[in-house]
Amino acid sequence: MSAVNSAIVIGGGIAGPVVATALHRAGIAASVYEAYPGPAYNIGSGLGFASNGLAALDIIGAGDAVRDVALALPASQIAIGDKLITVPALPGAEPLRIVDRSDLHRVLHDHAAASGVGFHYSKRLVGVDETADGVTAVFDDGSSATGDILIGADGVKSTVRRIIDPTAPDADFTGMLGFGGYARISTPVTPDTMTFAFGRNAYYLYWPLPDGRVAWGANLPSKQYLTLTEARDRGAAQWLSVLRDTYAADSPGAELVADTAPEDFEITGGLHIMPPVPHWSRGRLVLVGDAVHAPSNSTGQGASLAIESAIELARCLRDFDSVPTALGSYELIRRPRVEAIAARGAKINSTKTLGPVMRRLMPLVMPRFFGSKKLQAQMAGEQNYRIDWAASV
Ligand SMILES: Cc1cc2nc3c(=O)[nH]c(=O)nc-3n(C[C@H](O)[C@H](O)[C@H](O)COP(=O)(O)OP(=O)(O)OC[C@H]3O[C@@H](n4cnc5c(N)ncnc54)[C@H](O)[C@@H]3O)c2cc1C
Repeated sequence: MSAVNSAIVIGGGIAGPVVATALHRAGIAASVYEAYPGPAYNIGSGLGFASNGLAALDIIGAGDAVRDVALALPASQIAIGDKLITVPALPGAEPLRIVDRSDLHRVLHDHAAASGVGFHYSKRLVGVDETADGVTAVFDDGSSATGDILIGADGVKSTVRRIIDPTAPDADFTGMLGFGGYARISTPVTPDTMTFAFGRNAYYLYWPLPDGRVAWGANLPSKQYLTLTEARDRGAAQWLSVLRDTYAADSPGAELVADTAPEDFEITGGLHIMPPVPHWSRGRLVLVGDAVHAPSNSTGQGASLAIESAIELARCLRDFDSVPTALGSYELIRRPRVEAIAARGAKINSTKTLGPVMRRLMPLVMPRFFGSKKLQAQMAGEQNYRIDWAASV
């Protein structure tokens, strides 16, 4: 018998709609409150979905809707200069799928709404009042909402994290700025394949699209941290010029940047990684997704882990008749997994920001690193992970 009947979910990104849908499945009413005015505010930009994330979405019945709007890339390779290293496929894992962020938000929103979840937009959480038997969220338009529990699914710059613990750490800067785009190029790229490319000065990745274009993403080393707004304020033309210089010696990097029109170019700003968060919950407040464990884009696991945690949180709230036990069990189940994956991300980040001398050693070091049995076992553990929703926690 659950200790809660109703939940307020702050944030309608990825973890928010998923935790709300899973709670409904568990018999707990949940409503989502999102600061943005609507569900498809993130334009463009592809997000990689790992096998474990899709399996977790299957639990709430949203996996196939995401597969339907995603592009499957059954093969992956590492490019270091002209050298291509095939990444061995993981036995039993689904292929990597790339989904446009807008499509993903729309699918998760529609699925949650069809399951009975209420969405409230233009609601930015600014404060919380907690009592012995409930919690009230206060929004920037002066309105409020009350429930048995409040879930902070409000992303890497979480307000709820700060309310739970005013001394909680902020996300760290990985030392890289993110960009992406779409280009039509003459250099052939390997079909149905994601290529992770260590260019002469910076890392990038690219994959072919069914319409003949090539999608790409770039991680530009930068000593200076820039928010999304600060980076966008500098304008597409200036960044495309910086990236043209950075990737001038790389193929197809140079061509990808040169042939990307400003309207097909995305600026993401500083890329983050969350250090371990000491307090995942306090009283009737709890965190989920990037708010508590953003593992950095290098893992390709941020969204998948956010979804897994959302499902596990709902499962723990379903199965325990005390809020502290439910939230403590949730943290106990999730913390080791997400922190191990974040640590792997931090290692990859360090290879993306190497100086020129170390970069010259990469062709010797990287094949061994990517071919190592230890890494293969780690990747299998990440991607073959499954949650048993039917089993009691
Ligand atoms: C460049 C880049 C590439 C990435 N690539 C991948 C990838 O390939 N694969 C992968 O799995 N992950 C990837 N990620 C990570 C992935 O995007 C995140 O892990 C995922 O979005 C986390 O979901 P979330 O719901 O926790 O947070 P978010 O998606 O950030 O959602 C948080 C929501 O909360 C809302 N919000 C914030 N504050 C408030 C407030 N005070 N009140 C109300 N609402 C609020 C926000 O508007 C937002 O909608 C990438 C990230 C970046 C930056």
